[in-house]
Amino acid sequence: MARTSLDKVWEAHAIRTLPSGQTQLLIGLHLIHEVTTPQAFQMLKDLGLKVRMPERTFGTLDHIIPTLSQGRPFADPMAEEMAVQMIRNSKDFGLPLFDLDSGRQGIVHVIGPELGLTQPGMTIACGDSHTSTHGAVGAIAFGIGTSQVRDVLATQCLAMARPKLRQIRVEGALAKGVYAKDVSLTIIGKLGVKGGVGYAYEYAGPAIERMTMEERLTICNMSIEGGARCGYVNPDQTSFEYLRGRPYAPQGAAFDRAVTWWKSVATEAGASFDDVARLDGSAIEPVVTWGINPGQSVSVSQRIPSPESAPEPERPTYREALAFMGFEAGQPIKGTRIDVAFVGSCTNGRLSDLRAAAEVAKKGKVAKGIRALIVPGSQQVAKAAEAEGLHEIFQAAGFQWRKAGCSMCLGMNDDKLQGREICASSSNRNFIGRQGSPTGRTLLMSPAMVAAAAITGAVTDVREILR
Ligand code: SF4
Repeated sequence: MARTSLDKVWEAHAIRTLPSGQTQLLIGLHLIHEVTTPQAFQMLKDLGLKVRMPERTFGTLDHIIPTLSQGRPFADPMAEEMAVQMIRNSKDFGLPLFDLDSGRQGIVHVIGPELGLTQPGMTIACGDSHTSTHGAVGAIAFGIGTSQVRDVLATQCLAMARPKLRQIRVEGALAKGVYAKDVSLTIIGKLGVKGGVGYAYEYAGPAIERMTMEERLTICNMSIEGGARCGYVNPDQTSFEYLRGRPYAPQGAAFDRAVTWWKSVATEAGASFDDVARLDGSAIEPVVTWGINPGQSVSVSQRIPSPESAPEPERPTYREALAFMGFEAGQPIKGTRIDVAFVGSCTNGRLSDLRAAAEVAKKGKVAKGIRALIVPGSQQVAKAAEAEGLHEIFQAAGFQWRKAGCSMCLGMNDDKLQGREICASSSNRNFIGRQGSPTGRTLLMSPAMVAAAAITGAVTDVREILR
């Protein structure tokens, strides 16, 4: 019987079936960062345990890192304390850490693929929801909680229920000015933020196959926002070429042997899925969220929907979202004034995202009164962008060019919204309070759309600027 990639990777890593019915799953790569590890390391210390596979465990600093000045000690004592703990724990347990002076520091989901740590056919875990990102190269990657981080540190295993599998096929080709982020937001808008609960998503179809690895990383990153446990794209030539030569990818003859194994884990023709969803990629337009979850979105040319147009169970959330955002049903999303523009995050903080934003930034200057931040996802992204002169394009247009970190994706560092500010953001969550102000408002969109909003001061159809 034809098998899916999920079948193959799961079976290759299954150690046994637990009495609970869950699988004891070997984890091939454990990525860690400063926020979800202090308690886990403390539990290991209390129990006198070591890290089971330090050679498969890699750390970075990302969530709490300031992006303006990264001199130590950090101005925020709590950030400094978390950095100190991460550095001390990595040293105590003999784990590699991509610290600020490594040249390889960055958001955990940016550096994993970038360094070639993330590989096809792997099981990957990290104490962060957006670990689904790593599925883009053909891995099965799970976001886990602190107690599971402890379990993986101590045993290199996780107790996991095997999810069902939904294939999401994106047919056709994307139009100019439409990006992977628009595809993700369209999928979540169509299937709902809880539509993926109990599922893994396999992304397939011509539009996905044509995507670069960085676009696929954006797509898989957002799987969790649609409720899915993980998301992946079958490994193919795009994945292999992306990994070739990366520092932690196999080198030379070992790379060729790895490609043979990686090819073997792709879903076979004729494999069956628990569900299949189809989208026409050519019909997708630039998308903007108007509400308080990533499923509450419209195309830039549409109007904000009324609660009455939503299915009955969703109407209270629609009403709550309209009240919180201060929007009226029927109001066009285009033209909504913004206060802040943010390009960055593990969803859209890679080189191609910065290039797309710079393309738009060349066409104007940041509108008066707008705070506009460009935050590379990693030190390597920053270096590559600077080598191309992207930072100069941004600075000339009035954007702030920052250092690598999670920045304004969430309010755990100095980059925060103030009061009721509205932020055009390339991040992944528009939950109430997510960007650091309990009353701040987030409009999710692609990096190019964020740059367009920055230079016009309002939500704008980027296709009109790129014309
Ligand atoms: S960029 Fe945002 S979503 Fe990604 S790891 Fe950092 S805080 Fe989490």
